[in-house]
Amino acid sequence: MRRSREIQPTIPPAAHNVGGGPGWAAIRRAFLGLHPMCQVCGEGRAELVKHFPRTREQLISDGISRPDAPPHLRGICAFCYFTS
Ligand SMILES: [Zn+2]
Repeated sequence: MRRSREIQPTIPPAAHNVGGGPGWAAIRRAFLGLHPMCQVCGEGRAELVKHFPRTREQLISDGISRPDAPPHLRGICAFCYFTS
């Protein structure tokens, strides 16, 4: 049985700053403007941007020169943030 979405958890503000390099706040804002819906469940409103499927550390160690570029990012909603 699926859990109710009526009670939306709140992502802690500090979580929004996790994972990005210089200019992350602007990158995050632009990304959410282009991808307003959660890319995990496709139902919730995206609130957080995170590196996926590889973490920023993995991208850098793989030699990716722009780890904060959109192809490496996913927008996720608060529900998926807490359940994935
Ligand atoms: Zn979601």
